[in-house]
Amino acid sequence: MDKPLLSLTNVNKFFDDSHILKDISLDIYDGEFLTLLGPSGCGKTTMLRCIAGLESINSGDILLNGSSIKDLSPNKRNVNTVFQNYALFPHLNIYDNVAYGPRIKKSMNEAELKERINEILELVQMTGYEKRMTHQLSGGQRQRIAIARSLINEPDILLLDEPLGALDLKLRKYMQTELASLQKQTKTTFVYVTHDQEEALNMSDRIVVLNKGVIQQVGSPREVYNNPSNLFVADFIGDRNIKKVKVMDKKGDYVKVMLKDNIIDIKCSTNADSKNCSGDYAILAIHTDKMSISCSEKPNSLKGRIVSVHYSGSQIRSQVDLGGEKVTVIEYQSNDCDYKKGDIVHITWEETGAILLPMEEGFEERSGGYEEF
Ligand code: ATP
Repeated sequence: MDKPLLSLTNVNKFFDDSHILKDISLDIYDGEFLTLLGPSGCGKTTMLRCIAGLESINSGDILLNGSSIKDLSPNKRNVNTVFQNYALFPHLNIYDNVAYGPRIKKSMNEAELKERINEILELVQMTGYEKRMTHQLSGGQRQRIAIARSLINEPDILLLDEPLGALDLKLRKYMQTELASLQKQTKTTFVYVTHDQEEALNMSDRIVVLNKGVIQQVGSPREVYNNPSNLFVADFIGDRNIKKVKVMDKKGDYVKVMLKDNIIDIKCSTNADSKNCSGDYAILAIHTDKMSISCSEKPNSLKGRIVSVHYSGSQIRSQVDLGGEKVTVIEYQSNDCDYKKGDIVHITWEETGAILLPMEEGFEERSGGYEEF
């Protein structure tokens, strides 16, 4: 295993009596695109600010290339931050905005600087905009200049705090692809903060899922999407039916469970804390868009009655009643039958779409419409 570029070890952060980061340990590797993902207020920005040195930590350590940086001021850490509001200097033109860091550090002469700025502006596709003022740029262009201004300092790590948050949806999607390819081109380590799961899944090499200041799971997009480690991750990432089921039997990785009158085999998440789902009850999580509805009986399926069918664009969204327990199924084309309200159907799912998680305390009290078995 490579040595980490940045390590957080048992980091704790309090604001007054509020425990914001709880014993965070995380290794970040050179050249990776790592995303901190979690709901509003879970501590993502605070973690980024602690890495940048804009906040101190109460205990633990932060190591960059093996040396502690926790007591260094922000300008002594070779990390740069790109904020959501870009923080460009309005009184400077684009050229001077990008030149600002190297000029302060006196790290290059003006001829070298000019050459470097030309390269960086080309990289972010902003050649020709040198003389413009910041108010003469669009949101996406300002965002690119903010990144150029950070990249020219050749930071070990670029910290990005919801940098696409202010852009409209279309531009945001475009910039996601741009940012991901820029990161691969420059091989700079990106630590990216977002609460948008789609953004995280699209761009990252690895995702850190945070909730209430605690790391819930670290893994590739595929891993956190298909193999969540707990109920929080299963619920936060993707759109799933989440049901309490009775455990009947366990064979290898598969568990026989009962949901109403249906007995089905489901794989237990290999990332779950307690690696077995052998309690009396477990939690079944199935992606709504990895299920399909059939009119004929299928092995390992859920039998139910169609409650509603809604067509919206390319999507068919159906609700199926399994005998007092409703599930939602999203299909992009109906398969082998033209089902309608009242029909008896059989629901199957892609293998990667269904996962079983160990039962968690407080499951019944959770909001979000989880119904009792
Ligand atoms: P968002 O996605 O909304 O930006 P976040 O996950 O980035 O949220 P943080 O900004 O890290 O969350 O905030 C975590 C918690 O710390 C919140 O409850 C917030 O109110 C609190 N907090 C943040 N900064 C301070 C501060 N300077 N003083 C006191 N409390 C703070």
